[in-house]
Amino acid sequence: MSINTELKPTPRILMGPGPSDVHPRVLRAMATPLLGHLDPEYLGIMDEVMSMLRQVFRTENELTFALPAPASAGMEAGLVNLIEPGDEVIICVNGFFGNRMSDIVERCGGNLVRVDAPWGSPIDPEQVRTALETCKAKLVAIVHAETSTGVLQPLDEISQIVHEAGALFLVDAVTSLGGVDVRVDDRGIDAIYSCSQKCLSAPPGLSPVSFSLKAVAVIEGRKSKVNS
Ligand SMILES: *Cc1c(COP(=O)(O)O)cnc(C)c1O
Repeated sequence: MSINTELKPTPRILMGPGPSDVHPRVLRAMATPLLGHLDPEYLGIMDEVMSMLRQVFRTENELTFALPAPASAGMEAGLVNLIEPGDEVIICVNGFFGNRMSDIVERCGGNLVRVDAPWGSPIDPEQVRTALETCKAKLVAIVHAETSTGVLQPLDEISQIVHEAGALFLVDAVTSLGGVDVRVDDRGIDAIYSCSQKCLSAPPGLSPVSFSLKAVAVIEGRKSKVNS
């Protein structure tokens, strides 16, 4: 494309998990003038976005904001901030995205303990209980809606098992946020990430994240620097 030709993408109806079609109001907002990142007006918009994200996550967590990045960065932010080398980490894997979380745990030096279920089935809470009995896990991570298979993972029982064992509970809500109830505070989710382009029906490029007070305390108490 030369700099003199106008950019004119062919209109499409987007029917996959994401990106999704966006409302014309969103497209108009994207054509508004730029603001500097220290402009008081911009800070006001940020505060509003954070407050609206707390509503959709159903949380009071202060540390709730949108990372300027795709959900994969939200996944990385959750894991690398909470894991230190040598920590035992349980990752539930029943599809593509659980595998990706496992890779990140290994890259930041965590001791990976996998809980596997066949692709197409949810994780059985008893498998998580057994895994927690065999290691001293600092964190258990699970995908709420496994996009690669369409499985919606029930979270209530697993969340209870994880907290009884004193571990942190991290949830991938990339395809669930805005589509089904996520209820971060009711479920005691300690770290969660999502994206703008799936059920929230906005353009790609933002990853809403939220961290509980317990997760923030773990991050502040780190002995090593974050590995990213
Ligand atoms: C799409 C998806 C991701 C990655 O999202 P990107 O915004 O493409 O980085 C992670 N987890 C799940 C479950 C997904 O569906």
